[in-house]
Amino acid sequence: MAKIIAANWKMNKLRSEAEDVAKVLGQAIRDKKVPADRTIMVFPPYLSLPPVAKALEGCERTLVGAQNFYPEESGAFTGEISLPMIQDAGAHWVLVGHSERRHILMESDEFIAKKTKYALDHGFGVVLCIGETLEEREGGKLNEVLARQISTALEPLPFDVQTLEKSLMIAYEPVWAIGTGKVAGEKEVLEAHGLVKELLGKHSVLPVLYGGSVKPGNAASLLALDNVDGLLVGGASLAAESFLAIINA
Ligand code: PEP
Repeated sequence: MAKIIAANWKMNKLRSEAEDVAKVLGQAIRDKKVPADRTIMVFPPYLSLPPVAKALEGCERTLVGAQNFYPEESGAFTGEISLPMIQDAGAHWVLVGHSERRHILMESDEFIAKKTKYALDHGFGVVLCIGETLEEREGGKLNEVLARQISTALEPLPFDVQTLEKSLMIAYEPVWAIGTGKVAGEKEVLEAHGLVKELLGKHSVLPVLYGGSVKPGNAASLLALDNVDGLLVGGASLAAESFLAIINA
């Protein structure tokens, strides 16, 4: 199965900077300088979606998504962005449940579940992020936290694994490893991904990505681990050179 390599640019880059990186990526993909068994995803800030989508237009196995959205079609939701607006900007995927939205913007499991269902019902693909804090891990709550995050989001979904397989991915991102330089060790990644696959149950065919301080130097060994179907990359995806090195790992 193709490995999925996703870039989350968070609140970084002006439009012209995002466009420059996307153009380099697009050229590399068109010139077949990336392996054929890679699916590439890019999640730029909203304002950069149109130039990034344009720069990657027509690139094989390449998907563009938004980092967030509000689950209503339109109306009095000041400051929010709808799925039709995102579609109009050229993107068809969304990130849901990222730890920064859970912990800084205080999104609850229930709101994340609502957004997941809403996006899937409206024809969008979803990368659903889950993961435990250091406190939860050290308190022996890994299993409980992942089980709660997975079941709250997946239980309301109609079970049609063939459709879901093409439109839903899980990203396991231990909160303590995001942007900290602390990558989870091989044993921890194997354990957590095994657990996620088990908790997914009838949904276990869904791809499970690892995220948390992925760099060009650790990408190959992470991708080689059982049950790691791809990587979600923050900091190291900001420069085309390091993101391409991870894609080629
Ligand atoms: C992320 O933003 O999802 C992430 C994993 O960030 P970083 O790679 O910088 O840890």
